[in-house]
Amino acid sequence: MREKTLKHEFPNLSVFEHPLIQHKLTHLRNEDTRPDAFRHLVRELSYMLAYEVMRDLPTENVTIRTPLAQIASPVTTGKKPCVVSILRAGNGMLDGMLELLPTATVGHIGLYRDPATLEPVEYYFKVPEDIAERMVIVVDPMLATGNSAAAAITRLKDCGVTTLKLVCLLAAPEGVACMLARHPDVTIAVAALDEKLDDHGYIVPGLGDAGDRIFGTR
Ligand code: URA
Repeated sequence: MREKTLKHEFPNLSVFEHPLIQHKLTHLRNEDTRPDAFRHLVRELSYMLAYEVMRDLPTENVTIRTPLAQIASPVTTGKKPCVVSILRAGNGMLDGMLELLPTATVGHIGLYRDPATLEPVEYYFKVPEDIAERMVIVVDPMLATGNSAAAAITRLKDCGVTTLKLVCLLAAPEGVACMLARHPDVTIAVAALDEKLDDHGYIVPGLGDAGDRIFGTR
């Protein structure tokens, strides 16, 4: 039922409710989880989410010989992947993604929020030269207001990217709505859709500051 309502409200969103994903997410949310375990869980969850979002990859048959027979058997085809991390917390998701997608290239986008305008301002941008020809998977653990993700995706579209997915661990309804308004063509994959944002822009119940918990900075 909830799934149906969600699909109606947010057709751009897929919530992966696999029991193993939810189990790992519970440990991730727990405030007692230390940074080394937290990093490990982010890595595992990123691998699992990457696996889920690659479900629609096209395949084509190639002819091979098994020790017993010759067969036509599928291999993945289509655009090569590029994973783009939104700094800094996105970096925590790179290892898990690259484990599943070893041929992926990697880009980084750094954005900070201007305290006066509250708008994202870019301070770093480095992506592969052939990014326009690739399927781009943007990673950021937390989709909060959605402003950074939307700005990053606008920037990537300006570079000619046409195939984009956004993968996050947690999202707030506000962030999903922002993405739907600004980039309705971009699908979003998450492990959970949480309740709301608090007055400081944190996702509730959430897991706190993902960057601080990955890097042990607080
Ligand atoms: N960024 C985080 O790291 N946590 C939140 O809850 C929101 C944004």
